[in-house]
Amino acid sequence: MGSIIKVDHLSYVYNPGMPNAVTALDDVSFEVEEGDFVGIIGATGSGKSTLVHLLDRLYDLPEGSGTITIGGVDIRHMKRKSLRRQIGLVLQEPFLFSQTVGENICAVRPDAENEAMRRAAAIACVDEAISTFPQGYDTVVGERGVTLSGGQKQRVAIARMLMQQAPIMVFDDSLSAVDAETDAKIRTALRDTLHSATVLLISHRVTTLMQADRILVLDGGRVSALGTHRELIQQPGIYRDIYDIQMRSDDRALVEEGGNA
Ligand code: ADP
Ligand code: MG
Repeated sequence: MGSIIKVDHLSYVYNPGMPNAVTALDDVSFEVEEGDFVGIIGATGSGKSTLVHLLDRLYDLPEGSGTITIGGVDIRHMKRKSLRRQIGLVLQEPFLFSQTVGENICAVRPDAENEAMRRAAAIACVDEAISTFPQGYDTVVGERGVTLSGGQKQRVAIARMLMQQAPIMVFDDSLSAVDAETDAKIRTALRDTLHSATVLLISHRVTTLMQADRILVLDGGRVSALGTHRELIQQPGIYRDIYDIQMRSDDRALVEEGGNA
């Protein structure tokens, strides 16, 4: 299998030429093989979200700042619509419409069968929670209806993305507000149902990342390391430092409890 995603000498500057210019990505290159699960880690501000936004063309990449190709095609030359068919993205702070939960999940496929909707919700571990809402899937969310917790919002957004059935799935810290146990459950369900999908998953949890085929470590907009969990814990660096902190038993409990769903 060849590379499905190729990021080549990618740089990105916010507000270029202005006094408040910020270099968010600086000469980033890596490739993702079809069917691979690639984890991404890096401190806040290291460029993770910028990378996924560029991949989905939420921002356009100026000429001369590197390329991103998907299936060999420069994404600048792809129609947004066909790009969105290839990439399902769960944003760091997902946006839900003031509609029913069901309408939110089926936003990309309004004609979907109930069964497909419930299957997506089950994989995202949110089916049970939705069943407890006053009108189940017909419950309106947001200001005019029930208020979802951060973790529930993230899981509804994951279910919505699953409905898209895109061959590439990108999660931008999408399980940060979900407890570690549910995080693991969702990933197992994803793996079992969508083993052929290519996954890019941004996370700060080593227990999540260690299952990736490869882990990309970003630091200040640059690739600091790229390797398997085993490789990265054998060399000094950001990943091993984070690993050491999270695996220390005292802190382990804090990590596991971090962010209740
Ligand atoms: P991460 O997702 O790893 O936290 P981001 O990609 O969000 O990192 O941010 C990378 C850098 O770009 C940071 O310095 C951040 O402050 C800056 N940045 C992000 N979004 C914008 C924006 N819309 N305008 C200006 N600077 C931004
Ligand atoms: Mg981010």
